[in-house]
Amino acid sequence: MIVTIDGPAGTGKSTVARRLAEQLRFQFLDTGAMYRMIALKALREQIDPGDQSGIGRLARETVMDLTDGGYLMDGVEVGGEIRTAEVTKAASLVAQIPAVRELLVRRQREIASARNIVCEGRDQGTVAFPHAECKFFLTAQPEERARRRLEELAAQGSQVDFEELLREQSDRDQRDQERAVAPLRPAADALLVDTTALDLDQVVRLLREQILV
Ligand code: C5P
Repeated sequence: MIVTIDGPAGTGKSTVARRLAEQLRFQFLDTGAMYRMIALKALREQIDPGDQSGIGRLARETVMDLTDGGYLMDGVEVGGEIRTAEVTKAASLVAQIPAVRELLVRRQREIASARNIVCEGRDQGTVAFPHAECKFFLTAQPEERARRRLEELAAQGSQVDFEELLREQSDRDQRDQERAVAPLRPAADALLVDTTALDLDQVVRLLREQILV
């Protein structure tokens, strides 16, 4: 069985997907981390995130292991490093490249074959798994999403400007929604959940009630 959870950043997708997978005893797949790993490697190797052939090659050469709760890139844990602001921005740029998307979707399908899984990202219900049994699309108002991110960063000891965060979030939303390949949108058969006024427990409960296992 495949459960997909898509939506923009700051909707609580990752946490909700992880908790849901735990409750269901399903595998959890954070597909954003795959784009982030490629972005991290591009920054390290000083390859422009807009260089389609350079990034495509780099993506093909990168070994990712996301299935055991860790974030291994070429055998090395990169869980913390893929969350910086710089990587976040670069990830949204490499995600524009069609060859990268194709490759990662193929890998996502391999991971999901023959196991129960909760897949979280932007295109899981639309492109990667159009036949998934259960699809969700989480939304929330932009200010609330940015507020959540600010809180998360503050908990990690980082001080950032709210207006700047909101601006960067809006740029990323725009790139995700307007890209030529796999633009961010809900699948026709996805359940839309507005999480603006809900806490994480409420969202998890709401989704759990929809899944008949
Ligand atoms: O979800 P997360 O913020 O970790 O994703 C990082 C970036 O990767 C997003 O800004 C988005 O552009 C891209 N992404 C994507 N398709 C996915 C998951 C993430 O394009 N399935």
